[in-house]
Amino acid sequence: MGRPNFVFFRGVILTTKSAQQLWTAALGQLEVEIPKPNFETWLKDTVATDLDESVLIVTTPSAFAAEMLEQRLSASIERAVEHVAHSPLEVRFSVRGKNGLAPESPAPRASISLKDEAVESAPAFVRPAQSNRLRTELTFENFVSGPSNQLANAAAQQVADSPGAIFNPLYIYSPVGLGKTHLLQAIGHRLTAKSMNVIYVSAERFTNEYIRAIREGTTEDFRARYRGADALLVDDIQFITSKPQTQEGFFHTFNELHMSGRQIVVTGDVPAEEINLEKRIQSRLTGGLIVDMQAPDYETRFAILQSKSAGKIPPLPTHVLDMLATTHDGSVRDLEGSLNRVLAFAQLTNEPVDLAMAERALSGIGSSKPKTPPTPETVIAAVAAHTGVPETSITGAKRDRRTSSARRLAAYLLKEESKLAATHAGKALGGKDHSTILYAQKKFQEELDKSSETRQLTAEVRKSLRTAAS
Ligand code: ADP
Ligand code: MG
Repeated sequence: MGRPNFVFFRGVILTTKSAQQLWTAALGQLEVEIPKPNFETWLKDTVATDLDESVLIVTTPSAFAAEMLEQRLSASIERAVEHVAHSPLEVRFSVRGKNGLAPESPAPRASISLKDEAVESAPAFVRPAQSNRLRTELTFENFVSGPSNQLANAAAQQVADSPGAIFNPLYIYSPVGLGKTHLLQAIGHRLTAKSMNVIYVSAERFTNEYIRAIREGTTEDFRARYRGADALLVDDIQFITSKPQTQEGFFHTFNELHMSGRQIVVTGDVPAEEINLEKRIQSRLTGGLIVDMQAPDYETRFAILQSKSAGKIPPLPTHVLDMLATTHDGSVRDLEGSLNRVLAFAQLTNEPVDLAMAERALSGIGSSKPKTPPTPETVIAAVAAHTGVPETSITGAKRDRRTSSARRLAAYLLKEESKLAATHAGKALGGKDHSTILYAQKKFQEELDKSSETRQLTAEVRKSLRTAAS
């Protein structure tokens, strides 16, 4: 066994096993922080393999991904890791071994869950002061207005200019990726600039803090903190729809602030009348100003791309922006993700940007579906290669845990990748009954939902199938 492999985390020794737990928690945070396409392209398939005193090693499927993460996302990543670890850690990226497996690491000495039991025993790690974590770029100046969002933009500016005065509360709703968080944080920036005490909080974080306060008997502190706000900005209220206890806490917080004339702005994904919240909360929200946003039209999409690519190196020619604006008619987040992908590709390859390269940048990564589905033999061989269970066992009758688990993976992929019906998948797996296959697929789906290791393994086999097919 190599050197000791641990770090103090909330006073508890963590080991290799926990590197991944820590990373999973950080990924959870990054997923909400950074644009979805970027997350899916660069972060989803990463695994943490090692953690020592101050360095977390994260492996990526390709050198390209490692370089991207290093260059473009390391600041956000280190912030997220610091947040979950309660201590700054350097994050290093390395490319995963050829077989898709992480480099050998010593067996875990102990594994703990990232629950809060250990908090008291960790005097060295103090919870960072509540910070709003407003993203610097989400300002009014960077928000491009068009017919789809004009009203929401105007209302938000009005609120930021005269908080508590006219539109209180303000409720902004839209489907995902259309700028709710952007506007909410823009309000936050402007109010903060007036030295107001602004609390920006996602409903998810509000929930976690509230539940924690109840558990630890610190609801008074919780209330005092929120009561001290001059403005409360709550993002994604739909998160608390199925949480009556949190709704109760939210209702009281809301009332206390609203009654004393503090500005409240809430975002959600459906109209206030449709949102599934306690009636009294709903009626508070419908009592204010309600504005919605729609997907931007072509002109606005184009203007957003111009704004987001301004000053970037290399500059993107108009026809490339036009192509992007034409092909993305939904969420601005996806639009931005594609723009970033083209920019990253251009920076890394040092090629001038033209349509052909932009198309390559967009098709090369992420959306790499094979044209022809892999044959059952290919799938079974890939599962064998990644799990170490011989093909003959997968198609045979052995029923030990490893073999069964590899077989379930194969059954799942035969459906998902080879598009085989259960009867045919059963044949390919050595003449199993179709109900056996259906059961195996269902079981595997449950494993996927539960275990990040299973998800990781599946992603790797899938990826190898796609690479092989293209
Ligand atoms: P939502 O909260 O509605 O899911 P976000 O506010 O997170 O959406 O927006 C997703 C991304 O799109 C962000 O990077 C945001 O800056 C950008 N964006 C959305 N609308 C606009 C706009 N009108 N102008 C500039 N950027 C925008
Ligand atoms: Mg949002």
